[in-house]
Amino acid sequence: MSDDRISRQRSPDVEKMAEAIDAFLDAAGFDTKGHPHLGRSGQRVADAWSGDLLEGYGTTPSEALGTPFTETSGDLVLVKDIEFFSSCPHHLMPYQGKAHIAYVPDGLAVGFSGIVRLLDCIAHRMTLQEWLSRDVVATLMSELRPKGAACILQATPMCVLAGGVRRPCRIDATSFDGVFREDAELRRDVILASVGES
Ligand SMILES: [Zn+2]
Repeated sequence: MSDDRISRQRSPDVEKMAEAIDAFLDAAGFDTKGHPHLGRSGQRVADAWSGDLLEGYGTTPSEALGTPFTETSGDLVLVKDIEFFSSCPHHLMPYQGKAHIAYVPDGLAVGFSGIVRLLDCIAHRMTLQEWLSRDVVATLMSELRPKGAACILQATPMCVLAGGVRRPCRIDATSFDGVFREDAELRRDVILASVGES
């Protein structure tokens, strides 16, 4: 994974995270102590971030992908419409959408669940959508040495919805390597197969 990505320096201190969220709510003008709804929000937010939104830091992309097996076919593999969520490092807000991931094997393949685990491992970190698509492709290229790999993401970032243009919009991020970069027809085919029908 590229060096300019957001890396985690320490294991999360969930108690400290909960206290910080309580302090944040206090600073925002809310009394949380004993409140029927906000009283445990600090803990809930800390649990959600440490257990779900940032859980990807607990494993490496290579481990998540799993051990490849021998594959003699060179047919295109496309896993499409994989629901995912991630979080934006600029606003600490989540985004969610669909991922379509493809590769053309050159002797090695992995199960579909490995592809989904790889996506989750990288998405459940603080990352930008364009980094996410690039890191998925880079991992597939280095671990499977395929003829090519592609990742197409379509997501709605909460920070754009709430704070930017204030309306829902879908932002696509795409990354292509190997034959998908070289062969415009194949690239078009995989884009159409991914997003052209639903
Ligand atoms: Zn953002």
